[in-house]
Amino acid sequence: KSTTVPNIDGSINNTEEDDEEDVVDLAANSLLNKLIRQSLVESSHRVEVLQKDPSSPLYSVKTFEELRLKEELLKGIYAMGFNRPSKIQEMALPMMLAHPPQNLIAQSQSGTGKTAAFVLAMLSRVNTLELFPQCLCLAPTYELALQTGRVVEQMGKFCVDVQVMYAIRGNHIPRGTDVTKQIIIGTPGTVLDWCFKRKLIDLTKIRVFVLDEADVMIDTQGFSDQSIRIQRALPSECQMLLFSATFEESVWQFAERIIPDPNVIKLRKEELTLHNIRQYYVLCENRKDKYQALCNIYGGITIGQAIIFCQTRRNAKWLTVEMMQDGHQVSLLSGELTVDQRASIIQRFRDGKEKVLITTNVCARGIDVKQVTIVVNFDLPVNQAEEPDYETYLHRIGRTGRFGKKGLAFNMIEVDKLPLLMKIQDHFNSSIKQLNPEDMDEIE
Ligand code: ADP
Repeated sequence: KSTTVPNIDGSINNTEEDDEEDVVDLAANSLLNKLIRQSLVESSHRVEVLQKDPSSPLYSVKTFEELRLKEELLKGIYAMGFNRPSKIQEMALPMMLAHPPQNLIAQSQSGTGKTAAFVLAMLSRVNTLELFPQCLCLAPTYELALQTGRVVEQMGKFCVDVQVMYAIRGNHIPRGTDVTKQIIIGTPGTVLDWCFKRKLIDLTKIRVFVLDEADVMIDTQGFSDQSIRIQRALPSECQMLLFSATFEESVWQFAERIIPDPNVIKLRKEELTLHNIRQYYVLCENRKDKYQALCNIYGGITIGQAIIFCQTRRNAKWLTVEMMQDGHQVSLLSGELTVDQRASIIQRFRDGKEKVLITTNVCARGIDVKQVTIVVNFDLPVNQAEEPDYETYLHRIGRTGRFGKKGLAFNMIEVDKLPLLMKIQDHFNSSIKQLNPEDMDEIE
């Protein structure tokens, strides 16, 4: 789609959806995170472990050598540039590779090394002399399945006899085909179809069952039930592993239904705070006025990179055009773009090719661009009931205490929205100072 590319006269075409807010799509966000991830995500918390059998010794590893992996697998890991196990891998890998195999439920935020861990487990358990499916991994979408498959291919680069196949819609395999690939990655619906209707996979021969992105999975209608039907047909000695980035009660209930006798590993997320952020607001009459205030701020201080949040696509587009016409280098990230397009926009911004990123709620969460010094709420985040959306405010502006840098946040507020801002201030018990946009000296 070309709606975000300005026309020759600098205008942008609006569509009917423009007045809608962009909803957060869990699966798309997860994929986006994977596409733009460059390195492991750190956490200052300790890994919590709950063993199925508390009396058994707890092993952790500091090196990949300690795991006694096949030579070609170790080579694959090092070729990916991994030097040592991540925090979660230190605890998870010994459990996952133990004999007899142990079941595991693991929760840690995206980017902490879960995928790499279960891919390693699958690769190490494949018997290359046997040509039938032995490892089965369920993912919530086609794209996420492919992404995991890429990791299998990378890590298994030197395991030349291990092959992957995708059970995803559109991958038509004639009935009666002898599936010889050892690792199957797919979405629940298609996997179910391949197992029960089309008899392409014999579930009784599966040794490792992985349910990835459980939180996204249960968010999709039908996927929990389909996954449970698949799991019920697995042999009792099959190793069962479940991963999730978040752990609400619903995920936990699902995990306990689908993983028998599990060990549990958790790595808490680094909390976001507003401690290191100086917050300001500017009172404005209308949209034009907000824009003027933004320009004054822009002219008044030296800005590294900034992210500007708008509530609707229409506002985001309008602002993009205004700024472009005034000669700023800006890019627009909104919900009508494909995940690949979004990933490339974020990547360009990260590389410093644009100074300003204008966006709707699509990117409030989960996307960290460390070098951003300024966040602007061109519109305050509000929910359906026109109450402040505190969570989103925190996600837009907050940083993690230990790894975050100092930052500046500006809220452009119409007079009638001032009570909302005051609520936000009270909620976080942090001060948001009024700023006279003509006088930037107030920003210390
Ligand atoms: P998750 O599944 O928790 O989102 P991933 O397994 O995708 O995390 O890992 C996040 C990023 O860190 C990926 O780019 C991956 O290649 C990298 N990574 C994973 N494990 C290690 C490790 N032990 N050392 C260095 N990088 C790693």
